[in-house]
Amino acid sequence: MEKSHGLLIVLSGPSGAGKGTLCQELLRQVPALKYSVSMTTRSPRPGEVEGIHYFFRQKEEFEAMINGDELLEWAQFCDNYYGTPCFAVEQAIQGGQDVILEIEIQGALQVKKRFPQGVFTFIVPPSLDVLSERIHKRGTESEEVIQKRLATAIEELGYVSEYDYVVINDEVPVAVDKLKSILIAEKCRVKRKPFVFKGESI
Ligand code: 5GP
Repeated sequence: MEKSHGLLIVLSGPSGAGKGTLCQELLRQVPALKYSVSMTTRSPRPGEVEGIHYFFRQKEEFEAMINGDELLEWAQFCDNYYGTPCFAVEQAIQGGQDVILEIEIQGALQVKKRFPQGVFTFIVPPSLDVLSERIHKRGTESEEVIQKRLATAIEELGYVSEYDYVVINDEVPVAVDKLKSILIAEKCRVKRKPFVFKGESI
């Protein structure tokens, strides 16, 4: 059978919805999936490692990447730049590898324009109270930043209709099973794979 391109899976949703946790667990359970490491101008949080969690860059360097059209998408989120470097993503997909992006909504909408065959999945928290509790529990942001993130989250929930799938992140194992089911279903789509039956194209 003809080798098909890899899937581009875009996971987004409000800050605190638990995208990061779901993404890590999915990567652990599906090792063939490649995580696209983003670039950001925000400072590293304790425990975050350069090149694994993010490529941490100065504003000037990030802006040079924007001007050089080296980013598949980029956005400003709560006073910092975030973006997806093109090179590794395009190469992996063309080589048949599935790639996952964990990005905010403005970036996801840019990817949708450039790459509509991506799989766009929106992660939502079970309620706004849970969302607020999760962001507070993380304990990595000041109250001012938390309030900004919560306000952004409420705005972001309005974009769910732009996505192909929505997954409520109540219990992590259940949500991860849903993500794995989405991957399996997408791989079975006829339009993604020319179907050949005993050597005859149908
Ligand atoms: P955090 O600062 O909590 O790591 O990320 C803040 C937001 O930026 C999250 O919603 C996260 O998904 C998003 N984000 C991370 N990397 C990228 C990226 O490359 N592009 C865009 N557009 N958003 C990103």
